[in-house]
Amino acid sequence: MLTEERIKYLEKQGYRIVGNHSAIKTCHYCKAAIKGKDVCYKNTFYNIASWRCIQATVTLDLCNLRCRWCWRDINYGTTNGSMFTDKPQDIVEGFIKEHKNVLMGFYGSGKILKDRLDETMKPKHVALSLTGDACLYPKLPELIEEIHKKEMTSFVVTNGTITHMVKKLINQQPTQLYITLPAPDKETYLKMCNPIGGNYGWENIIESLYLLENFKRTAVRLTLVKNMNMFNPESYAKILEDKGFKFLELKSAMPIGDAIYRMDYSEMPSHEEIKKFAEKICQINNWKLVDEKPESKVVLIMKENTDERFLKEEILET
Ligand code: SF4
Repeated sequence: MLTEERIKYLEKQGYRIVGNHSAIKTCHYCKAAIKGKDVCYKNTFYNIASWRCIQATVTLDLCNLRCRWCWRDINYGTTNGSMFTDKPQDIVEGFIKEHKNVLMGFYGSGKILKDRLDETMKPKHVALSLTGDACLYPKLPELIEEIHKKEMTSFVVTNGTITHMVKKLINQQPTQLYITLPAPDKETYLKMCNPIGGNYGWENIIESLYLLENFKRTAVRLTLVKNMNMFNPESYAKILEDKGFKFLELKSAMPIGDAIYRMDYSEMPSHEEIKKFAEKICQINNWKLVDEKPESKVVLIMKENTDERFLKEEILET
């Protein structure tokens, strides 16, 4: 488990610890949205209100991969989920409590939109994307159920290597499931993601990508770094051509958190470079680049450009 020293370090970085292995971190865009300054790309692409979104993890700082661009300290990790024992109900209640505690302080500030700040006290969305891999948590399906019971939507981001959990999620689907495709080929994956315990995971990722056709809303994410995994768009296009996802996001990795020790600023692709790479994939598979958020260096591709990407009010209200 995490040392006390590491927990203190994470708290200094803005993490609020929930129970024994979960946390939230209020993201920059949530705070910017309260001030009416900006919203995050999930707001732009899918209609998720940034100021009502909880950025969270149930596997704090722990993953079975050690990607070079990860903002975790990749000296920590696990392939075994048995240490994640907290109950889903306690975790979700802890998320809401900590989220409110952090944002309550904004009531003392004059530079906010009061209506939005009031709404933050009733969060509507949980993004399990902060750090670590959510699929390591054995009770992930129950956690998703609990989030939905509280009338919130859920986005779950996973590296796709824990295929048996992806299969379980078919019967308890998050509002949107993301799988990251971290490389254009197995050799690059093994070199850049360095799975704990050796040569495994690539075939699992491919199998998980095939499972996406069983879900209502899915996204594939490419997190790109120059000289690491941002080459051979033809191979990414080939892997993805027959997979049943709805959305494809290409995003620049950022040298933040512990990634600063493994990634140089010069390796971070610009928005224009991300866009060009995306356009090549679109050209090959005849897909459409439908939206972009230059401030976050992220673009959205769809097979057909339809309005279905925007979460409807009735979903957001249930
Ligand atoms: S899969 Fe995600 S959390 Fe795990 S090491 Fe890679 S970037 Fe970090």
